[in-house]
Amino acid sequence: MTKTVKCRMVINRRVLFHVIFFPALCAVTLAAVACSKPSRPQREFALGTICVVNLYEKGSEELYSRIFSRIREIDRTMSAFESEFQDMLSGNALVDPGSAEAAIIQSAAEALISGVAAINRRAGVEPVKTRADLLDVLEKALHYAELSGGAFDPTVGPLVKLWGIGTDNQRIPADNEIAAALELVNWRDLIIDRGAGTAFLRREGMAVDLGAIAKGYAADEAARIAAEGGVKRAVIDLGGNISVLGWRGQQGKDPLPWRIGVQNPLEGRGAYIGVLEVHDASVVTSGVYERYFESDGIRYHHILSTENGRPVDNGLLSVTIVTKKSTEADALSTAVFAMGFEKGKALIDSTADTEAIFVFADKRVYVTGGLADIFKLTDDEFTRG
Ligand code: ADP
Ligand code: MG
Repeated sequence: MTKTVKCRMVINRRVLFHVIFFPALCAVTLAAVACSKPSRPQREFALGTICVVNLYEKGSEELYSRIFSRIREIDRTMSAFESEFQDMLSGNALVDPGSAEAAIIQSAAEALISGVAAINRRAGVEPVKTRADLLDVLEKALHYAELSGGAFDPTVGPLVKLWGIGTDNQRIPADNEIAAALELVNWRDLIIDRGAGTAFLRREGMAVDLGAIAKGYAADEAARIAAEGGVKRAVIDLGGNISVLGWRGQQGKDPLPWRIGVQNPLEGRGAYIGVLEVHDASVVTSGVYERYFESDGIRYHHILSTENGRPVDNGLLSVTIVTKKSTEADALSTAVFAMGFEKGKALIDSTADTEAIFVFADKRVYVTGGLADIFKLTDDEFTRG
């Protein structure tokens, strides 16, 4: 009895702490693990969001540092924005060659030469020799572009830039601007040459944008490094893009799953409609709530239709994917959201070990068969159907 009460107090304090200070964290994840062994999560801003890594054992400084260095490296390689690098390079022009700053500059320079920014700069000009990890992610992205019939498209860059959603330049573009940007979006014009190790955008003005898949890849890399470091239990939360390693704990002989809150797409980060119980899995949601602006009562969110060049408007508020790998979960959450319910569900049904939760504007929640026992709807404003 005393133990239960004590534990509940810890949960409440933690949840409060999280809700106030770390909105990117998942309330239920924290609440669920509060009763297991104490651990020290570490957080850092990268990939445009707050990244939280919680290693439940063997969480040495050195291992955390390796994980966050890798996340930063992925951010630099896969980000489409050059300005950050340029600031960094000019701001640190004079440094000791053996110093940590020099290593950062070296890595930034490599990203400039062989990352997404470089591919975009040479669009329509020439193939760019590209890092192997980036080629892997580009190939994955092209795979999902094909599977989704182009609804997911890694060459969506010109449209993303035009709308500027979530940036200081966000606005509703004119029809002719949308048409011109849309003209430059076509995944078939992104050519990967594995033999030569290059990537090439065929037409000038085209741009790769990996915003829909890079966080998933980073979560998989973080999980890989943690596992290689001997960690058996971990939670990796890259702005709501969640991966869990192992089980949360044990009760008697039974393993206990992690409990992951599924974001309520009508509320800010941290409010959830239900709880998923999983182990060794990734849970990723794409929806209308993550980045958007409103004008005349209309919400303009950040997942763009490659058919009409505007924010996807198909009656869905969010799609959550549950599968083993976060790269897959991230790409699929955006792809399925953009495809809409019918086509998206068909894609999930034909993909092994992959499940989905669809939340509709009328607050209906549809859950694929494999989640029947592991998803609980907890918000009674929503109905299952
Ligand atoms: P989040 O950024 O919340 O993780 P997503 O994984 O759904 O959400 O990714 C959305 C991002 O993907 C956008 O901000 C943009 O950079 C990019 N994007 C937008 N529309 C598309 C699309 N149709 N296909 C691929 N990427 C897209
Ligand atoms: Mg995604």
